[in-house]
Amino acid sequence: MKTVGYAAHSENTELAPYHFERRELRPNDVAIEISYCGVCHSDLHTVNGDWGPQPYPLVPGHEIVGIVSAVGSDASKYNIGDKVAVGCMVDSCQECDHCHDGEEQYCRNGMTPTYGVPDRLNGDITQGGYSKHIVVREEFVLRIPDNLDMSRAAPILCAGITTYSPLRTWQISKGSRVGVIGLGGLGHMAVKLAVAMGAEVTVISRSNNKDTQAKEIGAKGILVSSDQQAMQHAASSLDLIIDTVPVKHDINIYVPLLDLDGTLTIVGQIGPLEEPMTLPLVLGRRRVAGSLIGGIAETQELLEFCAEHQLYPECETIKMEQINDAFKQLATGDLAHRFVIDMTAFEA
Ligand SMILES: [Zn+2]
Ligand SMILES: [Zn+2]
Repeated sequence: MKTVGYAAHSENTELAPYHFERRELRPNDVAIEISYCGVCHSDLHTVNGDWGPQPYPLVPGHEIVGIVSAVGSDASKYNIGDKVAVGCMVDSCQECDHCHDGEEQYCRNGMTPTYGVPDRLNGDITQGGYSKHIVVREEFVLRIPDNLDMSRAAPILCAGITTYSPLRTWQISKGSRVGVIGLGGLGHMAVKLAVAMGAEVTVISRSNNKDTQAKEIGAKGILVSSDQQAMQHAASSLDLIIDTVPVKHDINIYVPLLDLDGTLTIVGQIGPLEEPMTLPLVLGRRRVAGSLIGGIAETQELLEFCAEHQLYPECETIKMEQINDAFKQLATGDLAHRFVIDMTAFEA
């Protein structure tokens, strides 16, 4: 199937139109006409080569929402016309214990990310959602609930599940005390989701600039991390901290904010940190952890949760042609919303 999208053709160059082929449908495949695709910070990191060499040309995008346009002969979950979604992974072994437990993201044989890696069967490089069409095996296709607005749902597939999964893992519920470091694409979703679960949420930020935004989405307010007095005052006051900072940073200033058995989980950065101090960990039985997206069943649960609560990411809809400007904004500022590409408006 011929399709078109926007691809990076080398490191640190602008994305440009790219015509390519999607594979013929395998028996368990679903073909999707993409309606919207979110713009994730990791799209930018990946195409720039920040996380290692990439196979170019590379079409990024792993927050995909669309309509089923064809189904394989053995695919039974979806019909043509269904509203569906695809997130950060498109395949896994489906045989190991983690896959059986619905934790495909931790597949012992390695899950297949939505773009930039060889397909498990034919070795073709996977290409993401900055394109008109995608073909994905049905086990990795999610259903969009009828009452969820498709035009605002895309960022749920990465920013949403990345923050929802740790909230579930660490059993956040009514009365839990949650801190969220950074109020960007991930952070604003962490706040909304934790608030919907009944938690008391504090945003931790370098400045007070986003205080209004934080409160508008349900946070108690901002704890300014450079204000030593405020930080000392807030010591041992949180059960869970979701650290969404996407670059190398120092976690030592945040760990003392955790109460006994509290956990700081890193979700925004892959790479080195400033050297961690063990003293506050040992003295407070505090933990530092990490968390990677979420499994397929958990992502489906999240879509239902967002539909039920009518909880949406803050979206700024853009045209495919505006992607390079959007990347520039993403690289320079931490925006408390997500760009979403309207693929229905894209013709090339
Ligand atoms: Zn992402
Ligand atoms: Zn597996």
